[in-house]
Amino acid sequence: MAEGVTKWVYAFSEGSRDMRDLLGGKGANVADMTRLGLPVPQGFTVTTAACIAYLQGGNAFPEGLEAQLDAYLAALEADAGKRLGDAADPLLVSVRSGARDSMPGMMDTILNLGLNDASVEGLAEVTGNPRFAFDSYRRFIQMYGDVVCGVDKHHFEAALSALKDQREVASDVDLTGDDLRGLTDTFKAIFQEHRGETFPQGAREQLYGAVRAVFESWENRRAYDYRRLHGIPHDLGTAVNVQRMVFGNTGERSGTGVAFTRDNATGESGKPFGDFLMNAQGEDVVAGIRTPRPLAELADVLPGAFAELMDTMGLLERTYRDMQDVEFTIEDGRLYMLQTRNGKRGALARVRIAVDMVDEGLVTEDEALRNLVDPASVPQLLLPQLDRVGVKMAGLDPLATGVNASPGAATGRIVLTADAAEREGQAGEDVILVREETTPDDLHGMIAARGIMTARGGKTSHAAVVAVGMGRPAVCGVDALQISGDTVTVGNATFAVGDVITIDGTSGNVYAGAAPVTQPDPFNPYLVRVLEWADRARVLRIRANADTPEDARRAREFGAEGIGLCRTEHMFFASERVPLVQAMILSDDDDERARLLALLRPFQVDDFTGIFREMRGLPVTIRLLDPPLHEFLPGLLELSLTKAENERNGVRNPELDAQLARVLALHEENPMLGTRGVRLGLEFPEIIRMQAGAIMEAAVAVRDETGEAPLVEIMIPLVAFEQELRRARQIVVAEVEQVLAMSEGAPIEYRVGTMIELPRAALTSAQIAREAEFFSFGTNDLTQTTLGFSRDDAEKGFLGTYLRQNLLASNPFETLDVDGVGCLIRMAAEGARPVRPDIKLGICGEHGGDPASIGFCHDVGLHYVSCSPFRVQVARIAAGQAALRGAHGAGAAA
Ligand code: ADP
Ligand code: MG
Ligand code: MG
Repeated sequence: MAEGVTKWVYAFSEGSRDMRDLLGGKGANVADMTRLGLPVPQGFTVTTAACIAYLQGGNAFPEGLEAQLDAYLAALEADAGKRLGDAADPLLVSVRSGARDSMPGMMDTILNLGLNDASVEGLAEVTGNPRFAFDSYRRFIQMYGDVVCGVDKHHFEAALSALKDQREVASDVDLTGDDLRGLTDTFKAIFQEHRGETFPQGAREQLYGAVRAVFESWENRRAYDYRRLHGIPHDLGTAVNVQRMVFGNTGERSGTGVAFTRDNATGESGKPFGDFLMNAQGEDVVAGIRTPRPLAELADVLPGAFAELMDTMGLLERTYRDMQDVEFTIEDGRLYMLQTRNGKRGALARVRIAVDMVDEGLVTEDEALRNLVDPASVPQLLLPQLDRVGVKMAGLDPLATGVNASPGAATGRIVLTADAAEREGQAGEDVILVREETTPDDLHGMIAARGIMTARGGKTSHAAVVAVGMGRPAVCGVDALQISGDTVTVGNATFAVGDVITIDGTSGNVYAGAAPVTQPDPFNPYLVRVLEWADRARVLRIRANADTPEDARRAREFGAEGIGLCRTEHMFFASERVPLVQAMILSDDDDERARLLALLRPFQVDDFTGIFREMRGLPVTIRLLDPPLHEFLPGLLELSLTKAENERNGVRNPELDAQLARVLALHEENPMLGTRGVRLGLEFPEIIRMQAGAIMEAAVAVRDETGEAPLVEIMIPLVAFEQELRRARQIVVAEVEQVLAMSEGAPIEYRVGTMIELPRAALTSAQIAREAEFFSFGTNDLTQTTLGFSRDDAEKGFLGTYLRQNLLASNPFETLDVDGVGCLIRMAAEGARPVRPDIKLGICGEHGGDPASIGFCHDVGLHYVSCSPFRVQVARIAAGQAALRGAHGAGAAA
């Protein structure tokens, strides 16, 4: 290679497992398998960097790429002793996409490249198998036409179907060589009709065209949707693998298949499974065109190849220390490995495989926790499952049974297209996407649907693999399913679009109407083991956000070690209290307000007692009233309309007039930046007094009742200035001390602290820490105030555009904006520690349940994260993983 020119191409023998970023997952692993001495057809990989350079350069090959492609092709030709496009004995290659993160079926692959009108005759001649040669050519014309030239594959498929009908055969394998020869002519005519030119005959031209098309497939819609769903960055690009073809379509001793080393639905080990087809090529198995045969049958058909495959799969599992999903082809009895990757699996299978692999001695506990466990999939363990007993008792019989492709039960209205699923799903409808088979183009609909049902395809079909990856229940290959027009028939039952059905992806059964479902066991024994590893590893404490005793109990069951945020505003909304609250707000007399607050106090004492009882012995952070007061009053518009109506009818209502006047007085242009948080408390100090007193009274009550008090943390929201906090704190402490002075018994520990949710507070944390025994980062508001985004407006509006256009990699309200908001958090923590070395630091925004954000909290040395009760297990695991990746606080000074 010339000096100074980037290396864009690597032979398989030059690559390895740790070059995934550059070679993509497929390329890196194919290289790896080559090194392991496994039977892999030779080839080379064009890097992801070349893809990015191509796309950024206005879809032009970067300098040097063409020359390197030529050189590596020449080497491949020399090794094979055949030339691409040669009329006598052609070399054929596949051109395969493959990004760093596996995106099954989302981008494009072309097989049998190098065939043209001359070389197909040569291939027929040297193999003595014209049927095989023309079968390969018709496949190539279709794939090349579709992927590279945009001639929709359905045109070709329709022609194939027509030919089969004409010949009265069910399957493409029953077509003769002459049939297929004729079909290639038909396909070429279809190509010409749509493109206005003949099918490209030059092998080089074909190769360059295919490489370009694969590069460009990085940007197609389904690939984009898939990346959004799985949080894969959009700027990585795909590699392109050019590989010598081996043929599963040469006859009855050839075939192709896909296999998993373990059951990816249940996780059970020792049960490799998969699908294969004899006399078939690549896409046939996954595309659900013919119904494939279960892997176990391969043992009878080709015992030698089967045994070698089993050995190879075992070796790959031991090498990658993870369940593998492999693709293989058998040519005339000889096995070739075409791909291996870590297999997609459901949440249940994931925890089971992790535990089993530890027990099998394949990986250590730490390794399993780090690599085999995915905290984000844990909530799927809580997906509803079909209630078998309830189904029996209701006398419900399944209408049909298909392949149990992705576990979990789902009920919804039938929709037949991905677009309809997306439309209705986004409108809040529960829908089941019902299809003959799903293709990667259906991804957006699969995302929006509650569940997926298909007529064709097995556990390795695209529908199944994608559904498992996103935790969507799916039943595939329902033979009894027929779709005609807007009518769906399942066995003897007929449905219209919009009718309700239930699918059970755990058993594969399909039911009419809504079948009963149950919540699964959140204490799955495998999950419990994983949580033990995580708890042993983690440094971060996990608390929950809980406003009610029920939430608190649930949080504790899930392993929360305290409450990090108890909001008090909901307590003011309970129906019997609203009149008191409203009267309190409407009165402009301090004494009257104090009297009404005194009436509210017993309610608050009750609220806190219930929560403290559940959390005794643990810290509970209670946030004083935060929202603006007008939220508790009827709306301005509503009152104005009533008043206008009264006036028309000559009715007088002085009470309403007074309400309206007060609402007008409290009305704010910008309530988010108005009288709320500590500002509200300082406007109405009697509210702080009432709440602080009630909190302490409740703590005393629980101590007296149970002998154990909670560790009370009283939190002042939305502080910007040290002086605000000092004032509020004085009011709190005076009230609390008064309550304590009146009670006897063991002392009750309490702390007063603040939320850090304004940039000014973060910037002046050294001052604020003088008044705060703890900081809790309220990252929802801190994100809003740092970015100047109102969350609701952003999510309803421009944020979608930002994400689509890749201006932002993720929603900053879901995953912490580490560079901006995170920088403020880090500064605030660092500013506070010298002033108050024992300050407690935590986070209570929604980010507290997001694995990536939890990693950040660990890195900057926070003491705890607080999240919704249902995410406590997620947080425990994410905190454990973070601890294995780096020291607590290691990122603090960065
Ligand atoms: P995907 O990422 O969609 O799985 P692949 O690039 O893996 O796409 O190709 C799909 C299938 O095409 C493979 O599983 C394999 O069966 C077939 N295939 C790809 N390359 C070759 C090859 N060189 N020889 C034979 N079959 C191939
Ligand atoms: Mg593949
Ligand atoms: Mg807030």
